[in-house]
Amino acid sequence: MSRVYNFSAGPAVLPEEVLKEAAAEMLDYKGCGMSVMEMSHRSQVFDDIIKEAEQDLRDLMHIPDNYKVLFLQGGASQQFAMIPMNLMKNKVADYIVTGQWAKKAYQEAQKYGKVNKIATSEDKTFSYIPDCSDLPVSPDADYVYICENNTIYGTKFKTLPNTKGKTLVADVSSCFLSEPVDVTKYGIIYGGVQKNIGPAGMVISIIREDLITDEVLEGTPTMLKFKTHADAGSLYNTPNCYCIYMCGKVFKWLKKMGGLEVMKERNEKKAKLLYDYLDSSKLFKGTVEKDSRSLMNVPFVTGDKDLDAKFVKEAKEAGLENLKGHRTVGGMRASIYNAMPYEGVEALVAFMKKFEEENL
Ligand code: PLP
Repeated sequence: MSRVYNFSAGPAVLPEEVLKEAAAEMLDYKGCGMSVMEMSHRSQVFDDIIKEAEQDLRDLMHIPDNYKVLFLQGGASQQFAMIPMNLMKNKVADYIVTGQWAKKAYQEAQKYGKVNKIATSEDKTFSYIPDCSDLPVSPDADYVYICENNTIYGTKFKTLPNTKGKTLVADVSSCFLSEPVDVTKYGIIYGGVQKNIGPAGMVISIIREDLITDEVLEGTPTMLKFKTHADAGSLYNTPNCYCIYMCGKVFKWLKKMGGLEVMKERNEKKAKLLYDYLDSSKLFKGTVEKDSRSLMNVPFVTGDKDLDAKFVKEAKEAGLENLKGHRTVGGMRASIYNAMPYEGVEALVAFMKKFEEENL
């Protein structure tokens, strides 16, 4: 067996320990004679899996009792519609547009009400997080929306926006469980799990209970109502059972590692190694303003498209995979999620140094 260092932005690297455990349980989960993939979602065995996964997530994030945890299908993108459908009582929402994913959410919400772009960093190709300390928040806004970590551009909100008392909704797909968060500051925190938590195809939405009501936009399908899933404990219909099981394993791994404080330290150490090298390099350049840098996604360029392509090709040959930047920005991007070991970033930096010596 040979595993590469996988810098993919998602689906992304998962802890090796978790994958090995899942492989060992593939044919016979805990003596029940079948795989989790094959069992009824109404069985006691699966009920234990989903309940334990939720509890472990609650422990890790210190989720208060007045928040529901929903395991939903449709990925993070489904939330772009579900959020306005469920929250737009006044049919007004404010969006902070800091990248493609925030933009997609902003565009989707426009189908359902009046949507204001109250800040953006599009003027400089989304390479920074705008000052959000005093925004023109709409007096009747149902919520203020952010994408907390911008996977494509590699920026992250270091402080949350001042929403002037309005409900904050955050897409945390690419920084989920990478550091501690104060859940009480948000009305909704949600994220696709395929980056820091598990396989693709599921979103976890953590929602304050008062936002889960029957008062949704007219015509909202049953499956797109938060209340449908909250009332049924995420078992209204057949959920993504195997994904929930894998996420549960990652939660246990995170607890074993020491929780989110420890993950933050590890992630800061990994990111520092890469950013320090980028700051000293004469060939490579980070594309993000320093005080907006993400701990998870690190985009960089040489400034020469052909050299970028050569780098990506040679890195792959050296066992460093998926370093090509997003198709909309070019260059390179290293995604260094929780499961990327420090050694992986060391190997990347060593390879970059060698490449710099050979190509400068
Ligand atoms: N939001 C962010 C920040 C993302 O990075 C992504 C996917 O990469 C999405 C949303 C969309 O996720 P999904 O493909 O699960 O719909």
